[in-house]
Amino acid sequence: MADFLFAPHNPVTVPIARGGLFAVRRVFCVGRNYAEHAREMGNDERDPPFFFTKPADAVVVGGAAIPYPPKTGDFHHEIELVVAIGKDGSDIAAADALEHVYGYAAGLDMTRRDLQAEAKKAGRPWDMAKGFDLSAPIGTIEPAEAIGHPARGVIALEVNGAVRQTGDLGDQIWNVSETIAYLSQFVTLRAGDLIMTGTPAGVGAVARGDVLEGMIEGVGTVRTSII
Ligand code: MN
Repeated sequence: MADFLFAPHNPVTVPIARGGLFAVRRVFCVGRNYAEHAREMGNDERDPPFFFTKPADAVVVGGAAIPYPPKTGDFHHEIELVVAIGKDGSDIAAADALEHVYGYAAGLDMTRRDLQAEAKKAGRPWDMAKGFDLSAPIGTIEPAEAIGHPARGVIALEVNGAVRQTGDLGDQIWNVSETIAYLSQFVTLRAGDLIMTGTPAGVGAVARGDVLEGMIEGVGTVRTSII
């Protein structure tokens, strides 16, 4: 047994629908990937994608509640298709990209929108706006061998039963294959990496007591509540 100063951290895991656990390595997120959301944020929809990250231990599973985070007064939901990478690769060709996908889940890229706006204005990193504790609730991972590779289908989020966000996976500016191909030019993707693929229009603020229920047709659901 190595002489660790303290016990090594247990891996962060996401449950797999048919049993077993997916050990999370890193969480990559696409900055904007639906034209309508890009427009609502004041951006040109033709901009190439860019990436930011969340720490693996931002992931929250099992529908657990999350506390309203400190240092924000504008805590936003973003429903996203999450891609679970199952096979390592760099410089992956778009035509081969889906071979690297283990499965898919619904997830929430929870965002401190006020800190993000300040960071954008100052040209600063987004880490404290995006990569904070418990900022990535994720549902169960469905293996691609069970559900295929969903290219279209409704992606939606309800808050307290009222629809807030709705879109279609087919409206992604960069599809999953293109996103994997592009991201793998910058970093070597590894089994265990997750990619949150951007959110459709309708992002908005949540408050303590709100119940968030996201669904992606053909993939699954994600649920959390704000306490
Ligand atoms: Mn997002």
